[in-house]
Amino acid sequence: MTQAVQTFGGDRDRRSWASAMARGAAHKCPECGRGKLFSGYVKTKPQCESCGLDLSGHRADDAPPYITIIIVGHVMIPLALAVKQLFDPPITLQFAIWLPLITLASWALLPASKGAMIGLQWANRMHGFAGPDADPEADV
Ligand SMILES: [Zn+2]
Repeated sequence: MTQAVQTFGGDRDRRSWASAMARGAAHKCPECGRGKLFSGYVKTKPQCESCGLDLSGHRADDAPPYITIIIVGHVMIPLALAVKQLFDPPITLQFAIWLPLITLASWALLPASKGAMIGLQWANRMHGFAGPDADPEADV
């Protein structure tokens, strides 16, 4: 039976995507879970201050904003529609409620989704997380 994922050694080199994404979502290094992932709001540190993992090779790009929009939209829009149907508040009150909530939810979720995306890339050895034996031309 052929192994689908190439490993670079024993159990030490196995990477759990679930724990890596959880660590990233908590703004922590996907490898050690101790070092901070960001130096600013969503500016990634060049390397982990705890384990030295090179974080510069990630390519989260536009995925975190898309994930944030999808999650916030799928939570807030049904809530707004339900409030409209049940209570029919004035439109100014709806703007006063939903705009700050949507802004705060997006603001809070964007770094978490970027961290989770970096964790997923690290767990799958994508881009700059491929390891020292990776083919630099085989960027997927
Ligand atoms: Zn680390």
